[in-house]
Amino acid sequence: MKKFRKIIYLDYAAATPLDVRVLNAMRPFLTSTYGNPSSLHRKGLEAKNAVEKSRKSIADIIGARPEEIIFMSGGTEACNLAVFGVAKHAHISTKIKTSRHKPHIVTTVIEHHAVLEPIKILQKLGWGVTFLPVDMEGLVNIDNLKKAIRKETKLVSVMYANNEIGSVQPIAEIGRVLARINTERGKYGLMPTLLHTDACQAAGAFDLNVNRLQVDLMSVSASKFYGPKDSGFLYVKNGTPTYPIILGGGQERGLRSGTENVAGIVGMAKALEVSVSQRERENQRLAGLRDYLINRLKQKLPKFILNGSSLEGKQVGKEMKNFISSKTSGRYKMMTLGSSKRLPNNVNLAIPGVEGEALMLYLDARGICVSTGSACATGSTDASHVLKAIGRTEKQAKESIRITLGRDTKKSDVDYLIKSLKECIPLILDER
Ligand SMILES: *Cc1c(COP(=O)(O)O)cnc(C)c1O
Repeated sequence: MKKFRKIIYLDYAAATPLDVRVLNAMRPFLTSTYGNPSSLHRKGLEAKNAVEKSRKSIADIIGARPEEIIFMSGGTEACNLAVFGVAKHAHISTKIKTSRHKPHIVTTVIEHHAVLEPIKILQKLGWGVTFLPVDMEGLVNIDNLKKAIRKETKLVSVMYANNEIGSVQPIAEIGRVLARINTERGKYGLMPTLLHTDACQAAGAFDLNVNRLQVDLMSVSASKFYGPKDSGFLYVKNGTPTYPIILGGGQERGLRSGTENVAGIVGMAKALEVSVSQRERENQRLAGLRDYLINRLKQKLPKFILNGSSLEGKQVGKEMKNFISSKTSGRYKMMTLGSSKRLPNNVNLAIPGVEGEALMLYLDARGICVSTGSACATGSTDASHVLKAIGRTEKQAKESIRITLGRDTKKSDVDYLIKSLKECIPLILDER
């Protein structure tokens, strides 16, 4: 492989580099502080203290109680537990008969596979599933969501921000709607409908306060905000009816057995602290770069199609303003309000006639790393389910690339990307 003076990494939605402060926080737990947190001697206690300190720090940031944070091996496990845990509890506690009142779950067509695949298994087991559609911008409609909820609906699972097109759902509004519905349900002696959000992409950028969002379950992955891979947590509100999927020694309040990944947990807590402390400033900077990139693309590649929410945005209501961040500065609001339905670091575009995979390889040959569709669907050649859901044809979906910016991205990188796109595209068009 050709060596470059500099690699321009623009795939932060797939993975982020480990922050050096995070590495330093983790280091002792990879070397000297190796005890098992369940051991009662001093080495065990040392490790346990670190785990509990991290739990408290994360809980404080998201407005939860420490015991509501369940450490997981990443976002996928968290999403799996959110779905299967609630389903398992429903089966064990209420002796569900699959005949007349089959249990029901509501989700969206654009969820990550970590949510979709467990739900498809429930469907095979006889559960009713409503897959809510999204509009052209990749947003769910609240009225559709309300109408989808039945007496038998156990869980609503809606992702906070989409990993491919960056669309941001109004989770706080959905939380409020469900709270009202649950008050009604209570009067009829019905169990509440629980709300899970997959916040893996949103965690580095948006407000995670579980009281403002009114979620019962929330999945977070550390590797998306400059923390270690294979670390994550599931927020499980106290009293949420759920059962574990991994059983054994009873760690994590019995919800996730197995020796804790102490270094991963410490690293995740540190990564979240750092991320939250610079969130507003970094969001503002990234949104500025993103908008610069999109505007330059409009000049240089007038035929491109932006996948996801447009910069102009429609009317941005009070709801939208509130959930971006609890207290954003006036300047940030001005810069990003028009595009607050999109992650500040996400650009997803289709270039007519240019296959995304070819373009990705051409850019890679110039030292630029971007993604086609979604990096998460290993080796899959199917067009992205998300792009199809927002109305793209199979062909357009395959002509799409995802560019996600991050902490090391500078304006000069964006300029180099645009220059490279201008050079690569004619080569691919000629080849055909
Ligand atoms: C990355 C991601 C996941 C999976 O997280 P892992 O830590 O890779 O298991 C789930 N959902 C979304 C939206 C993601 O971006």
